[in-house]
Amino acid sequence: MVDDSYDLVVVGGGSGGVRAGRLAASLGARVALVEEHRVGGTCVVRGCVPKKLVVLASRFANDFEDAKGFGWNVSTATFHWGRLVDAVDGELGRLEGLYRRGLENAGVAILDDRGVLEGPGVVRLQRSGALLRCKHVLLATGSTPASLDIPGGEFCVTSDHVFSLARQPKRMVVLGGGYIAVEIASALNSLGTEITILHRAPALLRGFDEMLQEGLTSGLSEAGIRMHPGAVATSIERTSDGLVVHDSTGGSHRVDCVLNATGRRPQTRDLGLDSAGVEVEVGGAIKVDDRHQTTAAGVFAVGDVTNQLNLTPVAIRQGQEVAQALFGNDRRVPIRFDVAPTAVFSTPELGTVGVTESVARQRYANVKVFETQFRPMRATLAKSKECVAMKVLVCGDTDKVVGVHLLGREAAEMIQLIAIALQLGATKHDLDQTLAVHPTAAEELVTLRTAS
Ligand code: NDP
Repeated sequence: MVDDSYDLVVVGGGSGGVRAGRLAASLGARVALVEEHRVGGTCVVRGCVPKKLVVLASRFANDFEDAKGFGWNVSTATFHWGRLVDAVDGELGRLEGLYRRGLENAGVAILDDRGVLEGPGVVRLQRSGALLRCKHVLLATGSTPASLDIPGGEFCVTSDHVFSLARQPKRMVVLGGGYIAVEIASALNSLGTEITILHRAPALLRGFDEMLQEGLTSGLSEAGIRMHPGAVATSIERTSDGLVVHDSTGGSHRVDCVLNATGRRPQTRDLGLDSAGVEVEVGGAIKVDDRHQTTAAGVFAVGDVTNQLNLTPVAIRQGQEVAQALFGNDRRVPIRFDVAPTAVFSTPELGTVGVTESVARQRYANVKVFETQFRPMRATLAKSKECVAMKVLVCGDTDKVVGVHLLGREAAEMIQLIAIALQLGATKHDLDQTLAVHPTAAEELVTLRTAS
């Protein structure tokens, strides 16, 4: 029997919803969380976590090669897709259990159902038909892969399923040149899948600094990935031995798997938004103000469904802000999107925070660019082509560091730490005064002296 009266009903058990529900309950609110699939959402079940585990698996390929240069005898290493898929699945199950227990221990009622707004303060459970009455609703339903509207588009897999395929694809076309496309392309390529990327823009990762775009393209190409800029798939044909992708440049690609990674859309379909007066933007994202309040009183929305900066830590922070504002002390410090760090877990890995060089040049009259590119120590004995590239952008008038862009091993770990410096308003002088840790790649960030 469902208790039908709550202070907060959270629809969607991903990063934002779980954080909001758990915090609200721990602050004394009566909370229900409605989730139709698995608790944990895209990040834990279909995104960041399985992706990173597969990326880690993929990097052993280079490790085995590099080890030879350091005196190791490495007998032929072989990879078993099924064992990785099972191991990843086991870990996801463990994490889901942790999330569920965390919610339950905080006193949240988890309802395994689909939640639909039925009007102000009312959420209907679609499977059971029960009505939940509540003072507040939080919509945290995330986003879902965009469908591909071309003949044969239905033959594609998406990031939702690629890590649970029964067999590792031998040859795969990846459609799109964004985060998901390059991360999955890079990981599967290292695991032995032959990859072709079709991306419609001239460069991968639109909006990233040019140094990263170029460095990534050459790293992926070095790793054997074929890239076709300016190409989009026009149709996909099923044949007796697989799939053939036809592209806009007249090319065709015979493969056994096609990954559609052409973006994600806010998940707002059939949520009953109209019944409660919740308005959406063009493209389907829920309209919110800076306190995550939708256009309907008592209804809030956080995370990808609002399509702001679609990153897990952003959704978590927003969920926390809603719970804190409703049931705790509203001591909100707005998220600084201008210094939000992000990483792309391709190989080579990328980390970025602040503005790109081209944006810096539009925004500031005087920009100093400190740049370096070098072979890391490991590459010397390994005799690999691995490289590290770093760019620090400084506003010449204020000496403030306005952007840092990193490519290479552990770029994600480095960008997390340098982002703290940017959040604190670091100047180039502050970096110069910081003692280096030697010998590391990261020390270059505090020893760059010559600007271009
Ligand atoms: P992105 O927006 O990063 O990339 C979408 C790609 O698809 C772009 O290259 C885009 O091209 C292309 N595209 C869009 N529509 C079409 C079309 N009709 N035909 C051909 N190509 C098309 O989306 P993703 O799905 O990769 O990632 C979604 C979000 O998830 C990211 O923005 C990121 O915020 C988050 N994410 C974060 C990760 C991380 O932090 N490491 C990892 C994965 C995802 P164009 O550039 O020309 O528009």
